Amino acid sequence: MIVIGGGLAGLAAGVALAESGWRVRLFEQRPFLGGRATSYVLPDGEHVDNCQHVTLGCCTNLDDFYRRVGSADKVKFFDRLVFLDPQGRRGEMQAGMLPAPFHMTGSFAAFAPLSLADKISIGRAMVSILISRGKPADIAAPGGISMLEWLKRRGQTKGAIERFWRVVLVSALDEELDRTDARYGIDVFWKAFLSNRAGYRMGVPAVPLADLYEGCKAAIERKGGEVVLRAPARAVRLESGAVTGVEFDAGRVESADAYLFAVPHTAFAELFAPYAAQLGPMLTNLGRIGVSPITGVHFWFDRPVMTEPFLTLIDTNTQWIFNKTALYRPSNGSSSAAGPQTQYLQLVISASYGLLQKPRQEIIDLCLAEVRQALPRARDAQLQKATVIKEAAATFSPYPGVDRLRPKQETPVTRLYLAGDWTDTGWPATMEGAVRSGYLAAEAVLRKSGEPRQLLQPDLPHDGLVRFWA
Ligand SMILES: Cc1cc2nc3c(=O)[nH]c(=O)nc-3n(C[C@H](O)[C@H](O)[C@H](O)COP(=O)(O)OP(=O)(O)OC[C@H]3O[C@@H](n4cnc5c(N)ncnc54)[C@H](O)[C@@H]3O)c2cc1C
Repeated sequence: MIVIGGGLAGLAAGVALAESGWRVRLFEQRPFLGGRATSYVLPDGEHVDNCQHVTLGCCTNLDDFYRRVGSADKVKFFDRLVFLDPQGRRGEMQAGMLPAPFHMTGSFAAFAPLSLADKISIGRAMVSILISRGKPADIAAPGGISMLEWLKRRGQTKGAIERFWRVVLVSALDEELDRTDARYGIDVFWKAFLSNRAGYRMGVPAVPLADLYEGCKAAIERKGGEVVLRAPARAVRLESGAVTGVEFDAGRVESADAYLFAVPHTAFAELFAPYAAQLGPMLTNLGRIGVSPITGVHFWFDRPVMTEPFLTLIDTNTQWIFNKTALYRPSNGSSSAAGPQTQYLQLVISASYGLLQKPRQEIIDLCLAEVRQALPRARDAQLQKATVIKEAAATFSPYPGVDRLRPKQETPVTRLYLAGDWTDTGWPATMEGAVRSGYLAAEAVLRKSGEPRQLLQPDLPHDGLVRFWA
């Protein structure tokens, strides 16, 4: 079995297939594993995540993958999400005593950045999601409708849209509301906030992202396979409707019983461009899948400026601030590598179209002003250094109707399988979506070889009162 691509999709498929008895040879072009969800060392020696990544309680397949590779205890889960606006008003989302779907009612009622009119309109939209069990009839229109359109149809106030729906969904889906299929937006609220008390719990890695994949190589090698780094696939051989080999540098050609391409959709389209006629709409559709950007800003302060592990900002360019020093601190309370006298923060701005063209220093100045506004202790602190990482093609854009363009993991081409967050999983571009695609691809390989096995994990069960009507 050849797997091309060592991101989460390729790793999830590779590990699952190795555990099912396949000899997996995984080739990754870069010197490290993890793809977009990884970390690396900057020229100045700092170990940084490509960008802060978080998971949610409803991401059952990612959780399963972390368990398989021995990384589950490297992710810390939090029950309280704290929001802050420029006027200093705080809001929280936290499950209280009531059963689902009412578990958030207490913290929502006290959510200071929203007015009563905002809350009533949000409540009405939530009821609409609830009674339709996450599938309101109008989102099934051919070609989909945008989340913004759906919210307008539900009479949402400007405050509700800007200070609630946009805040949650732009971070979750990496796209603006008018470019997001309402199906994805509604799914976030149904799966994470309404149908189960634990769906919204936020998991944040307590280690640099690359450390999460330490167990993958061993899992594949234990079964006689190998993981080859710095090994870009340069071309594919396709003869009489079947893949027959993959070409690497120095004329090396590798062959196998099955080939799984777990590369980004743009890389897949490039590798298979010579076979466009044979792949037909599957390949041309990929050219119509757009991408959206995420910008990460890293700040190192000369003193602690923040106590919370993370904060969500409202009405600012900066959407999240993560306190990396606290997150990396061992749970036993001993001090982190950065030392207790300094503090490392990571800021995230999703759908950061407006920042792509801006010079890095301008982005640093903009975000620093917002951090100093949100965190009074940062006003006197010295910024020792800062770095900006722009990912122009961070995720595929979940625009209305994009699902029709996403190919299945099993293809009409003999021996060819696909994985990647962009393949047809029903999920947006997330780590959970990537792992799901890897499991679905591995299931397809196993089914085809006559050894079917279920790898895909079920969603969280419906909880509390939701059980009775969903
Ligand atoms: C800045 C940023 C922030 C994000 N934040 C979150 C978050 O908080 N939560 C979340 O769930 N998701 C987040 N995501 C999305 C998440 O990272 C992706 O959905 C997921 O990692 C995709 O995994 P993948 O395996 O499908 O693709 P990738 O991670 O892109 O993996 C593809 C791999 O294929 C390799 N490759 C490409 N071409 C070749 C070739 N020719 N030969 C060999 N190897 C090749 C690449 O080097 C790469 O390692 C974020 C993404 C970005 C960029």
